[in-house]
Amino acid sequence: LRAKQFKSLIRLDILAIMMHQFRWIHQRVQSMEQVWVKAGRSLSAKYNLTERKAKQILVHPGLVTDESGFRMAESAFSGGPLGELVQWSDLISTLHILGHHLHLSASLADLKEILGNNSGSCPPRNPKFTINLIYTDIVGLHQIKALLGRSWTKYRCKIRVLDSFGTEPDFNHEAWAQKHNLKTYWGGFGLMPMQFNTMFPHTPDNTFLGFVVEHPLSSKQTQLLHSTTRRKQALVYGKRATFWEGKGAYLDLIHKYFELHGTVDNNKSSAVPSYVKNHGIISGTEVQTLLRQSKVFVGLSFPYEGPAPLEAIANGCAFLNPRLHPPQSSLNSDFFNGKPNRREVTSQHPYAEAIGEPYVWVVDMDNATDVERALTAILNQTIEPYLPYEYTCEGMLQRVNTLIEKQDFCHGPVSWPPLSVLQVVIPEAGTSCKQACENVGLICEPAFFPHLNSAEALAKHNVDCLQSGSYDSEVVLPAFDNGTRHCLLQSDPLLFSCVRSHPSLIRICPCRDYIKDQIALCKACV
Ligand code: UDP
Repeated sequence: LRAKQFKSLIRLDILAIMMHQFRWIHQRVQSMEQVWVKAGRSLSAKYNLTERKAKQILVHPGLVTDESGFRMAESAFSGGPLGELVQWSDLISTLHILGHHLHLSASLADLKEILGNNSGSCPPRNPKFTINLIYTDIVGLHQIKALLGRSWTKYRCKIRVLDSFGTEPDFNHEAWAQKHNLKTYWGGFGLMPMQFNTMFPHTPDNTFLGFVVEHPLSSKQTQLLHSTTRRKQALVYGKRATFWEGKGAYLDLIHKYFELHGTVDNNKSSAVPSYVKNHGIISGTEVQTLLRQSKVFVGLSFPYEGPAPLEAIANGCAFLNPRLHPPQSSLNSDFFNGKPNRREVTSQHPYAEAIGEPYVWVVDMDNATDVERALTAILNQTIEPYLPYEYTCEGMLQRVNTLIEKQDFCHGPVSWPPLSVLQVVIPEAGTSCKQACENVGLICEPAFFPHLNSAEALAKHNVDCLQSGSYDSEVVLPAFDNGTRHCLLQSDPLLFSCVRSHPSLIRICPCRDYIKDQIALCKACV
């Protein structure tokens, strides 16, 4: 990290201002500039970051392009989803602070200028550099494929896909997905599952990229926030009036204990009770001030897995987290329908759920006793702000830097994390590797599956196979069949999966340790 890179993000600003698609992103990047620079300095004081080469990185958020039709950039200022834009902003800041060369693209024309096109009739704008890495999303990946035709595969191993909710291996494998009726617009790309980068560390088959929870900015603002006194006030988590529909009884109950505030885009809706003080859509800094004044941030059970609950607890405000009963997944929810995974979401915010009380209170919204128990406890408690390291600027810089330097899908078998951190766990039949590793305080590491996928490797780990080597493509292999005592090996590396299980098969699980509050990295990885 050279001092020059810390000067400012101004070069980036000029580009971003020119593109309306980057307006919200640009505002966030700029408003957090000081914290990023400070975090970069702090990281470089702890680690030797000099032995790195600056990479040429294409950043193409397909969702913000006009051609995608999602209108995400436009709706950002009127209650539209912001989670993805938060992640793009923080990724751009991270890559810049780490000293890489960024090529921002917000349209098909930009993409064509940077990558060229299929027929070669339009060569890349600047043939002097070779793109080393591409960050895009699923919409962007469709656009890249359409632009380049078959030759998109020359970029295949360089692609990283921002994918909030995750892509499980069976949905990613084109032929498998087709055969098992799992193919949707959002899946079937046949990348390595670790090329999908998630918002939260929920799918160990993918890579956890994350984002940053806004910190107080200047020392003056920090002082101001610290001096803000907490009132008997609740802030409701719901930018759109539709999120409030059918929640009247729950809100009335909370109103018995707290003065209610909201940040709803359109307060004309009758779904928002008249006793709510609505501030409309406000800036991130203003949201922080409201959170500092409030004792509780009230979840309405939607949106799922957004950044805001982490902002609440980072500002010392408890989060009331509605339980989803039954858990929601692509099998039973309109929202998750078509998403390339079968992950079950047990509450509005499972990551926060794991943080637990006194910061996060999981409640059954329809059970007044349950809600009142939580409200009384919150009213009588004082909590300190809490922010896991992985959601700080420094934590994100550390993680993304390690991933960029070490994760390599272009040259031979995946060779990171170091094999020395592999710990093999052999659970009972019917248990997934995600679960098996979690049960012993570890995390499933898919990069290690190939190292367990041979008769010799299994023998080394004391798996007593009567016969082995019967290769098969299933999503639960390698595994041991308890009945026949046969070891079943995986024939298709794209189908290695942490999350699947089979009632009569014992999975052979590759696990590793992790740094507390930096779960993407093993202890020996930094
Ligand atoms: N936010 C904001 N203004 C508001 C309400 C929210 O800037 O009036 C910010 C909030 O601080 C957070 C971001 O919007 O950083 C994303 O919020 P949310 O958790 O609602 O995620 P989403 O559902 O939009 O992906």
